[in-house]
Amino acid sequence: MAGLFDEPTVAYAQVAVERGVDAFQDGLTYGIPERLSHIQPGHLVTVPLGRGNTPTSAWVLSIHQDESAPLPKQLKQIYECNNTSIQLPSDLLSLATWMSQYYVTPIGPALSTMLPGPVRQGTGTTTRELVDLADELPPIDTLNEKQQAIVNTIQSLPNEERPVDKPTLVKLAQLKSQSAIQTMIKHGTLVTKRVTRIEAQWLKHTQSFSIPEKLTDEQQHAFDAIASTMDSGYSSHLLHGVTGSGKTEVYIQLIRRAIEQSGTTLILVPEISLTPQTAARLISRFPNQKIAILHSTLTRAQRHQQWALISEGKADIILGVRSAVFAPIPEGKLKLIIVDEEHESSYKQDSAPRYNGRDIAIRRAWMAQCPIVLGSATPSMESWWNATVRNVSTLHTMKHRAPGLVVPNIELINMKHEFTDDGQDFALFSDRLVQAMKTTLDADGQVLILLNRRGFAPWIVCKERTCDWLMKCDHCDSAMVFHRKKPLQSSGFVRCHQCGKEQRIPKSCPDCESKVIVRGAGTQRAEELLRNMLDIEWAAIARLDSDSATTASNIQKTLEKFGDGEIRILLGTQMIAKGLDFPNVKLVGVLNADSSIDLPDFRASERTYQLVSQVCGRCGRGAGESIAIIQTRDPDTPPIKLASQGAYESFANAELSFRNNAGLPPASRMVRFVTRNRDEQTAKGKSEALYERLHSLGHNDVKLNPPIPCVIPRISDFYRYECTALAPSSIVLQRFLVEARNLMTIGRELAVDVDPISLL
Ligand code: ADP
Ligand code: ZN
Ligand code: ZN
Repeated sequence: MAGLFDEPTVAYAQVAVERGVDAFQDGLTYGIPERLSHIQPGHLVTVPLGRGNTPTSAWVLSIHQDESAPLPKQLKQIYECNNTSIQLPSDLLSLATWMSQYYVTPIGPALSTMLPGPVRQGTGTTTRELVDLADELPPIDTLNEKQQAIVNTIQSLPNEERPVDKPTLVKLAQLKSQSAIQTMIKHGTLVTKRVTRIEAQWLKHTQSFSIPEKLTDEQQHAFDAIASTMDSGYSSHLLHGVTGSGKTEVYIQLIRRAIEQSGTTLILVPEISLTPQTAARLISRFPNQKIAILHSTLTRAQRHQQWALISEGKADIILGVRSAVFAPIPEGKLKLIIVDEEHESSYKQDSAPRYNGRDIAIRRAWMAQCPIVLGSATPSMESWWNATVRNVSTLHTMKHRAPGLVVPNIELINMKHEFTDDGQDFALFSDRLVQAMKTTLDADGQVLILLNRRGFAPWIVCKERTCDWLMKCDHCDSAMVFHRKKPLQSSGFVRCHQCGKEQRIPKSCPDCESKVIVRGAGTQRAEELLRNMLDIEWAAIARLDSDSATTASNIQKTLEKFGDGEIRILLGTQMIAKGLDFPNVKLVGVLNADSSIDLPDFRASERTYQLVSQVCGRCGRGAGESIAIIQTRDPDTPPIKLASQGAYESFANAELSFRNNAGLPPASRMVRFVTRNRDEQTAKGKSEALYERLHSLGHNDVKLNPPIPCVIPRISDFYRYECTALAPSSIVLQRFLVEARNLMTIGRELAVDVDPISLL
């Protein structure tokens, strides 16, 4: 074999090509040349790929010495090892293998998802020249005193501290300058090595929060039960605590316990910029611990630093968003995983690999044999099912709010008969809500208003009631949304929320030449109405949605001003529904609570319940009465009615039995195959062909639904068709997918989504 190469092959490596060649699921075999014998699993290497031997990056999955294993006809050698400071730990390699199978995604990209961009690019590293002793030293008595001191100092250093940097050596050898070192380098007694590394620093946090005197009985119960499993391998816990029941305090005590046992805790939060307080509170409670933070608002160099600290095993606590589930914690250190607000859809990545951070976290806990705690006031149906029906997870309930918090009075207002003054549209604010806002502001309280729709008006229509013209995007099957340029200015533009393209609003209806008007309301219109209705300074009202808050620091500034009391009314989309803990919020108003209930997605009810319940939980966090007013045109619809009663269990159990009867998740497991093409017939044809092939696999325990156009049939000029499959369990679905995978090429024209959470 060796004759083929310049250098003998000393071992063999299975590698996964980074840009995902799906056909080679178990990796490709390459020879390791002698000069690269230090290569280990988890390293990133360059290999010759294909007939042209194109240099291609690949991950080393495993290494074997065994010549008897089947080798490719033409064995090639690895070209080079890209950067030995990047090495994914072996548990992440196994996790990627599992992820690749489970989510039907090539393993190379799965591995690359785990490695943050700045780490891979080496952002923030510095290269320094270090020195060490030459292999052959002159007799020690030929050296002068200073030179002898240098040799002795280096020899006395532990291996891991060699080579050493010059300033350190100067200090340790008690020299006055580097001149002796330079002379020895010139004479060849010392050799230099250039070493690139990241100078890692812990992030500083200064905010402080009050510390509760003791846990409530409910908190204590939950803590005791979970803590008692800390040494018993894997266990899964659902902490269902109403908003304000003090879940964070339970997390804090559990983390403390893990630290006492020298273990690392991984805590995932949905999005730090939206829940800054949870993160800040947690951090403030562990002033003496090393906390690594992984989220997108860090600079690139900081992200690399945090990653490096984790991989060196220095972090006691790792706090981060979805992708932090791939933190490179050294094996054996992980003692506890917490997933806060586990129901949040932001845990699901909506591009390939379409993984759910919460579910990966469960898998990781199982691999690390440690407990995992999923916390929520409104658990996902999946977690509720796991805890109450499948009994694979233990339910801990906290029904009461923590001391000092009050339960808000919740009022449901029927908006079916409230119209705008001109009678053209439904009213956005009820008289009751307006009056409550005035009373609250007069009493120096603060107000939160939720309207889960951005822009000024979601529909641009013809004034003539008999004409049904509706302005749609030229590139998508989606209505155009009217946006104002600035609040209270009449000028505006229309934008498609699917593809982002903007268009000019036509002067008259293209069908009948009547006037064009805008209908419905988004946050911009709500803001305008508020400003006109209330006698209040400009700066006292703020809007928070993805148009107004384009950066995380923008969001934080607004939240800070709300915390200071400078902003009196905060209005926004679901961005304001999460995690906010401001004691002076005495009124929460929910506009068009039913707006998303009719979406053609079986999770519409679940989402509505979660949204309404979470936003109502933002008030009553301080002394005195507080009210939540929910406006809806459909007050009898179960999710809204039950959310207003705080009846999560009734809602969840009814919803589960509905899903069960309809054969929908979580009782069954779903996979969605979406084909897309610029030509509608091609998209449809490909979906049909795929359906036929999947059908021919003959898995009778998997229910295949024939192709239909997606809910939004066309986005950015691509036509989309979908075919879904449902299986009674994950095992059955996986058995099907293993075979299905060989029948298709995943890529631009076909996306596979396992356990999809959005069906748009
Ligand atoms: P959740 O996350 O369940 O919505 P939080 O953890 O935000 O609830 O707690 C709500 C508030 O109650 C926080 O301000 C917290 O400091 C306070 N709190 C939590 N536990 C206690 C306790 N045992 N005694 C007093 N106050 C508490
Ligand atoms: Zn569009
Ligand atoms: Zn018209």
